[in-house]
Amino acid sequence: MKINNLRILALGAGVQSTTLALMIEKGEVPMVQGAVFSDTMAEPKRVYSHLDWLEKQLSYPVYRVSKGDLKQDTIDAINNNTRVAMSPFYTRNKETGKKGMMMRQCTQDYKIAPLIKEIRRLLGVGYRKQVPPGTNVTQLFGISSDEASRMRTAPKKYLTYDYPLVDLKMSRKDCLDWMKKNNYPKPPRSACTFCPFHSNEEWKYIKEDEQEWKEVIEFDEKIRNGWGKVKDNLYLHRSGEPLSKANLEKSKDDQLNLFENDCEGQCGV
Ligand code: SF4
Repeated sequence: MKINNLRILALGAGVQSTTLALMIEKGEVPMVQGAVFSDTMAEPKRVYSHLDWLEKQLSYPVYRVSKGDLKQDTIDAINNNTRVAMSPFYTRNKETGKKGMMMRQCTQDYKIAPLIKEIRRLLGVGYRKQVPPGTNVTQLFGISSDEASRMRTAPKKYLTYDYPLVDLKMSRKDCLDWMKKNNYPKPPRSACTFCPFHSNEEWKYIKEDEQEWKEVIEFDEKIRNGWGKVKDNLYLHRSGEPLSKANLEKSKDDQLNLFENDCEGQCGV
């Protein structure tokens, strides 16, 4: 069935989008037809447990979509010397030691594209078919007022981006307060376990889970020599040192923070 009006929440299952999802449920923000969770399959286990819980609180459907396992796809690309959407790894030139950063492609391929594909499916628009004129899709993002710089204009004519938490002047702290006031549990931070955008605080958060930390350390070692056209050494930690040796006690200014350095409004919300 073709529909031409859709109101969809881009659900990241972190603090802000969880708050927004529940505010919609409680009628504090107008209802949506559904929420879409673009799964990189590389989130901390805590995020998936939280999402299972959240889904049970909502009367509207949560569509989980995925292009695949971003971490495993990267490992496969290393092993087979093939291409994969790059995460924003830190680079260090093997000869000069000069530091840099890879271009980020993971958000587009693993977050945005599956979401758009799902929206097209919900609209009933077939593969490679044009979205009919007059179609209107409002996509809601859980961006809080303290992250308003992450707001974007929609890239497609039929799309409108909506930021209810910014309109309501709700900061991340206000979201946490709202959750507490309504007797909901504190949501986890959502982002891939290995995301190079992690601040030291977030690396320490990953480290709390022994198994996840071990996997991330192994992943950091696997990417080290680059592959294909990537000739530099690659690192997860901004210091350009192996994550296992990085000083996580340095001030957070030493590391970019995903929640300020956005993932096109699709990661960490
Ligand atoms: S959380 Fe980080 S690694 Fe994962 S898709 Fe977003 S930018 Fe890429």
